[in-house]
Amino acid sequence: MKPMGPIPPYFMDERELTIAGKTAREWVAEHGSPLFIYDVGIVAERLKRLRAALPEPCEIHFAIKANPLPEMLAAVAPLVGGLDVASGGELAKALKVKDAAHISFAGPGKRDAELEAAIVAGATLNLESEGEAERALAIGARLGIAPKLAVRVNPDFELRGSGMKMGGRASPFGVDAARVPALVTMLLERGAIWRGFHIFAGSQSLDTAAIIETQAATVALAGRLADEIGATPPLVNLGGGFGIPYFSGDLPVDVEMVGAALGEVLAVRPASLKASGFAIELGRWIVGECGVYLMTVIDKKQSGDETFLVCDGGLHHQLAASGNFGTVVKRNYPVAVAHRMADEPGETVSVVGPLCTPLDRLADRVALPAAHPGDVIAIFLAGAYGASASPAAFLGHGPAREIVAAPSHS
Ligand SMILES: *Cc1c(COP(=O)(O)O)cnc(C)c1O
Repeated sequence: MKPMGPIPPYFMDERELTIAGKTAREWVAEHGSPLFIYDVGIVAERLKRLRAALPEPCEIHFAIKANPLPEMLAAVAPLVGGLDVASGGELAKALKVKDAAHISFAGPGKRDAELEAAIVAGATLNLESEGEAERALAIGARLGIAPKLAVRVNPDFELRGSGMKMGGRASPFGVDAARVPALVTMLLERGAIWRGFHIFAGSQSLDTAAIIETQAATVALAGRLADEIGATPPLVNLGGGFGIPYFSGDLPVDVEMVGAALGEVLAVRPASLKASGFAIELGRWIVGECGVYLMTVIDKKQSGDETFLVCDGGLHHQLAASGNFGTVVKRNYPVAVAHRMADEPGETVSVVGPLCTPLDRLADRVALPAAHPGDVIAIFLAGAYGASASPAAFLGHGPAREIVAAPSHS
């Protein structure tokens, strides 16, 4: 038997798994299987808690690549100060639900058409290189529009304990910190609307102390850069990187501690940042826990010493649970038999999908109450990097159904 991660607290106390007021079995009966359900009431509750924890000058941005479903964006957009996008496609989606003044566009390899779309709309471009800056300025000059440009900084440190490190080394992301003052000075001379800095040092960290330390280092770096430039950045995007507990032994980030520490840092921030606004940008932390992937058991079979629950859902929709998206060692996400939440485990099973590849294993030798064909299995933590980060076309089972459910938690 192998351990699994913790079931998010929102779903723990039910006899039968209930999502936004309906049981998992009701959702499947209504909409079919497999199925993602996202309870936006949970998103609202988390954002309310985070807003209360953060100091006043710091707004919350949603990095929409974590879950770009249009209904999700429509629900989250009014609850956050900004949307951060990473492609022209995401920009178009974001513009449907948020004013361009509150949208910023980061990511390497932006094509001219994407730069132009952002400049025309009035969204902020987070520049990833000097070459991109030149192209954005040229497009702005051709259109007669002063582009809104921030500079993404490749910091000279990284977020400790993060699953995906994005700082402290050579990187396709951002401009090396030492070269940023020269670039911003050039932008100001060329008539761009300088929007500030974007400094993102890593992702999926559960280490509260490391997040606090990184935020302090980020504010200090922004202050040094602003001093060198001799101008105040209108906005300092401090990055994010808050993880959620996926695996056995994981504990959540203490956002109240992070907020309190950031409050202290901002209270004594360098003079060059006194008039700056601040933001953190989060994807996974905001939406990861609100989603559940529901599958139906098709077959139960024995092979060797293993029992398999063969389900109708798999890695084509929920790649991350199979351990093949950004993890080195495969560990089990939290899983449950939907109508037996309170029951003691009765057997050790591996939960697999219908794909003809041994990779399609969503839970490896977990202890669950006995389940049978027709029963609904829930994989938790499916709200971020699920459907949109999985190979839906692989093996032709068809795309995921996704439902954004009305609030049940207020
Ligand atoms: C992906 C990404 C995020 C969101 O990361 P999460 O781990 O989902 O919070 C934020 N900012 C940037 C620049 C990103 O690329």
